Amino acid sequence: MSTRSLVDIRILQREYLLAISRALTAELDLPDLLRIILQSAVEFVGGRAGIIVLADPHIETLRVAAVYGIPPHMVNYFEPLLRGVPYISGREQDALPELNRHLMEIAKKVDLDLNQVVRLPMGYGNEVIGLIYMFQSGNSHFGQDTAVLLSSFAQQAAIAVKNARLYSQVQQEKQRLSAILEQSADGVMILDEQLAITVFNRALSNMTNWKSADAIGQQHEDVMVWQALKSEMTLEQALDDGWPLPGAAHLYVEGEFALRGKNNHIMLGITYAPLLDDNGRMTNIIANIRDLTRYREEEQLQKTFISVVSHELKTPVSIIKGYAGTLRRQDAHWSPEILDESLAIIEEEADSLTDLIDNLLEASRLQAGTFSLELSEEVMLDRLVTAVMRKFNPQSDNHTFTLDFPDDFPAVWGDERRLTQVLNNLVSNAIKYSPDGGLITLSGRIHPDHVTISVTDEGIGIPEHQRHRIFQQFSRLDNALSRQTEGTGLGLFLSKSIVEAHNGRIWFNNNENGGTTFTFSLPKE
Ligand code: ATP
Ligand code: MG
Repeated sequence: MSTRSLVDIRILQREYLLAISRALTAELDLPDLLRIILQSAVEFVGGRAGIIVLADPHIETLRVAAVYGIPPHMVNYFEPLLRGVPYISGREQDALPELNRHLMEIAKKVDLDLNQVVRLPMGYGNEVIGLIYMFQSGNSHFGQDTAVLLSSFAQQAAIAVKNARLYSQVQQEKQRLSAILEQSADGVMILDEQLAITVFNRALSNMTNWKSADAIGQQHEDVMVWQALKSEMTLEQALDDGWPLPGAAHLYVEGEFALRGKNNHIMLGITYAPLLDDNGRMTNIIANIRDLTRYREEEQLQKTFISVVSHELKTPVSIIKGYAGTLRRQDAHWSPEILDESLAIIEEEADSLTDLIDNLLEASRLQAGTFSLELSEEVMLDRLVTAVMRKFNPQSDNHTFTLDFPDDFPAVWGDERRLTQVLNNLVSNAIKYSPDGGLITLSGRIHPDHVTISVTDEGIGIPEHQRHRIFQQFSRLDNALSRQTEGTGLGLFLSKSIVEAHNGRIWFNNNENGGTTFTFSLPKE
């Protein structure tokens, strides 16, 4: 061969290698990349087979990462060759005889026609990230300069491997981030610069009743439709107004949000944070969304609590003060009857204050979760009912009480003081809410595994649409009577909690001829 043509071949080879190298840097899938590197290297030098091992930073050892021309089940036999002879830069010539000896032994064992090995480091800076093994067979032999010829190719390959690894790390990180966003208990939404939704996580989807797939791609204003706004402006209005100003402050928007496809709304609080690029241009908006419904309801409850309690405390206190002040007057001499009557009223009002305070304490125990029954007694409900009736009877002239209990009414396990509280409230309601008087019937019934107690009145009844409110805290129905009579709206709430703590139930029916029947059940055991 002439010198001229030899040079030509070299140039062609270089160009071929360069083309492969360029292709390599574009390949980001690591297994594919390694396969291409190995195959091109082996084919380029006219070899028969090859293996790539990579240094695995996690386990500090070499790992077989690609195989070419060797059946997979035989790869294990190559262990001594791959791990037994360490690669030392500049000393590869000395290692070759040992490598070849190993190869001969392996080839004999697995009956493969392999007779020569060459090893190339895949170097990146000073670091060797892996080794390319190439094997020859039959009568062919690698040229002297094989390693030299391929060295820059191996360097390119190392860079490509590094890239592919970085890329897969970035991909993994991206997946991890979107998994975190998806699992976040708070609603998360990401908008692009055109305000189209690009991320809409599961929590937000549950909150708003919008399927993520439906929301993604929509304009922000078409999804986040406010029914009533509590804060000053919406995101769109704020943007028109120049938000975000330099310094990139967050924007908070709160209001009533109509649930998609439901006749219902919730309170949402959204914090929008702008994402700016190096030039200060907004590229994304990240929104954190919270459902504030319960929080606002509790706030409302607090307000009701304070107004109800102060109102209810005021009445008895001013009555007590009025009577006490009158009795103290130095200039008057009160007859024993008047004294007695006045003191009785003071006592009664003090009792009702005590009841009120007891109710409030009970309600706060329920809220704090420290409410527990004192289940120690066998409660004779028929006797309790009789006692409650005796107590209320003299308080009302125009109501008539009747008892309707079977003789053998069984005792139940329960908290006597609290069950008395339930009866007190049902009977006092029956009186309060039947201002024209009438019959109040207290009855007991025995069932296979529970007993029921009912209080029936002939009063104003409870309108159907108010049914669901009746057992809620501080709820008093809006009618003229509620305004005239005293009450905090705690009685039925507490009664329900007490009965349910006994594993019972409480409910009511409107009677056919007007009036209401409240019934509760308690298990016999
Ligand atoms: P409290 O019992 O705390 O003194 P209250 O009697 O107003 O106050 P609840 O016993 O919880 O509160 O009753 C809630 C509301 O349900 C009452 O305000 C009343 O509007 C209505 N209600 C309760 N019992 C009857 C009844 N027997 N007939 C008609 N309405 C009733
Ligand atoms: Mg009541």
